[in-house]
Amino acid sequence: MEERQDVWIWLAPGDVPPTGLELVAPGRTLAQRLGSGLSAVVIGESADELITAAAGSGVDRIVVADGEAYGVYRTDVYAAALRTLVEHHRPAVLLFSADQTGRELAAAVAAALKAGLAQDVVALETTGTGSVLFTRPVLGGKQMAAQICGPGIPQIATVRPGTFRHAEAFFDAPPPTVVQETIRVPDSPLRVSRQIRVAVQDKVDLEGAEIIIAGGRGLGSPKGFDLIREAAEALGAQVAASRAAVDLGWISHAHQVGQSGARVSPRLYIACGISGAMQHLAGMSGSDVIVAINKDPRAPIFQVADYGVEGDLYKVLPPLIEVLKKR
Ligand code: FAD
Repeated sequence: MEERQDVWIWLAPGDVPPTGLELVAPGRTLAQRLGSGLSAVVIGESADELITAAAGSGVDRIVVADGEAYGVYRTDVYAAALRTLVEHHRPAVLLFSADQTGRELAAAVAAALKAGLAQDVVALETTGTGSVLFTRPVLGGKQMAAQICGPGIPQIATVRPGTFRHAEAFFDAPPPTVVQETIRVPDSPLRVSRQIRVAVQDKVDLEGAEIIIAGGRGLGSPKGFDLIREAAEALGAQVAASRAAVDLGWISHAHQVGQSGARVSPRLYIACGISGAMQHLAGMSGSDVIVAINKDPRAPIFQVADYGVEGDLYKVLPPLIEVLKKR
């Protein structure tokens, strides 16, 4: 049995680039602090694409389990394979992206190994004793909780997507070693299956946009973004959103501005129904001119706005769109 105490990151099949690659940078920092190596773990029917993606990412090692059994994502099958890989290699830390699949799989693996699990973490530090201090938002993001997973190997966490940026490719890094494993997955009736499709990402160039109009929870419903899109068309602007709107499923994460989204610096940023939480301001306060539309005069967004419109966005925006269309 190998005893390598590496930090592992799981690369999910299906997406290009694979979800999980953004964990290379924090995984590398953690590995350095723990004095260990960094491995990517890859499971798939034909894992060549994942291996190629992992090979240029700066990991030291790629642990691979491939075979027909992994053609369709099944939480029980993937969890059984990961559990076996963990038992063979005994990594110190196992990180997943906190998307739906990552959260589900991490929970199944942690339960199978009776290991601790921190979900949705936004910061990872070492304690000096080999433990990792995971920080995650609680109470709807109003407080941060620090969590240490109890003794036992490995310490498992899912990391909130967008918290860390993709590391630059490590062209100078030596090619990683590839460890192929053959695992016999027990036959089990198909209980849970999900075909992982290649995600068709919204193409949004927020970082390069000159004008941005953003909507928040104050839109009241996903239909509110129809009005924002209409205004964006009239203005020649890109559409952005606060995290509250993204978390509600009203618009994709590609549109999110803020600490865990895009950092933007347009000539004009129009915030509609956004309160101005510091995590949102972190992504847009570098805009040249900020306009805020909010019905609460005490909303913090007004403190950073160059122009403030106190009122209902559904009353303010339509006449503005009419004027813009006429021009
Ligand atoms: P709310 O705070 O609920 O504000 C809605 C606003 O709409 C209110 O001010 C209300 O007065 C106004 N309103 C309501 N109805 C109308 C109307 N009809 N017309 C006009 N105004 C109206 N947030 C981000 O945005 N980006 C991030 O990247 C981000 N990262 C985060 C990272 C961490 C670790 C944490 C803990 C939080 C993060 N957040 C982020 C969340 C942030 O703290 C806020 O919860 C979020 O920004 C609130 O979004 P909001 O302003 O749309 O919603």
